Amino acid sequence: MTIRWGLIGASNIAREYVINAIRHNDGETVAVMSASADRARDYAAANGIPNATDDLDALLARPDIDAVYISTTNELHRDQAIAAAKAGKHILCEKPLALTLADAHAAVNAAKAAGVVFATNHHLRNAGAHRAMRHAIQDGRIGRPLAARVFHAVYLPPSLQGWRINAPAAGGGVILDIAVHDADTLRFVLDDEPESVVAITQSSGMASAGLEDAVMTSVTFRSGLIAQTHDAFTAQYAGTGFEVHGTEGSLIAHDVMTQKPIGSVMLRNKDGEHPLPFDHNDLYVRALGAFHAAIRGEGQPAATGEDGIRSLAFGLAVAEAARTGMAVKVETGL
Ligand code: NDP
Repeated sequence: MTIRWGLIGASNIAREYVINAIRHNDGETVAVMSASADRARDYAAANGIPNATDDLDALLARPDIDAVYISTTNELHRDQAIAAAKAGKHILCEKPLALTLADAHAAVNAAKAAGVVFATNHHLRNAGAHRAMRHAIQDGRIGRPLAARVFHAVYLPPSLQGWRINAPAAGGGVILDIAVHDADTLRFVLDDEPESVVAITQSSGMASAGLEDAVMTSVTFRSGLIAQTHDAFTAQYAGTGFEVHGTEGSLIAHDVMTQKPIGSVMLRNKDGEHPLPFDHNDLYVRALGAFHAAIRGEGQPAATGEDGIRSLAFGLAVAEAARTGMAVKVETGL
């Protein structure tokens, strides 16, 4: 059965990754919706999409659309998800699911009530590197995990230096853009839940309007593990990484906080250093494969609505911790 898609949002991420991932899973992109009719038409023409509209209801009324991919700016996700659920469409929604926890719950609950599949597009848990680290930990190869460090300070390319750095109302800022991915990746790799966080932010000049362009956090997890994260839009040469340190060994991964299936993972223990093999499959292709399977009734999406609620809860706790200078509990409402 071919899954037929409608795109809500004429976005960069859909153009660069998701349309391709739909095609690779034998899906079809039937229509795109943009707030601007001209942009919708141009985007459709440039990406081989047969239909374009500036009317959400018209897109959702199409009987030849089974699922929608919501990749508009963040303040729009909630209402668009609720409308899609009411129209009986399966939903792949970008992170953050919303700007408040109540809104994220409302979107996920609407999908539940409608009986449609809801997924959050947290791509990193689909990376072979992170999957290999999760399996190594489950197999006991580093003993009991005690600490993790996430290096996710990158440089926002000039083409993306728009709403992320100047529009608080659109959900800009590095916390909702990048730190939420750290939360999801830590949860996935460690199979653990963040419980409380302290944080400091930086506004170094790239971001304006009171938005942060870098953040560091220290997090305590349910198991007692402690973690650090560093996210930025402003670090041109830092490189990314992910480390987990356990009682019997350490996992040290380089270049893995990225959209590409690249990087390396090394296990270091009493016997020395050993590279950890992993697959280099496209992250978004894997995510769309799991989503299509979930629509067919085969398992769960890679990241569910609940995962999206949990990563947003982390992001909101980080923001509050930075604002107040206090440790803040990660309250998910789940
Ligand atoms: P874009 O800035 O490319 O697109 C977001 C919205 O901006 C679009 O829906 C579009 O509105 C509007 N827009 C785009 N180009 C123009 C333009 N030239 N003039 C005016 N408006 C324009 O955002 P991204 O693709 O970077 O991000 C979209 C969403 O995806 C966000 O929620 C983000 O957090 C998430 N994201 C997730 C990633 C992941 O790997 N999971 C990676 C990157 C982003 P309209 O539709 O009305 O045309």
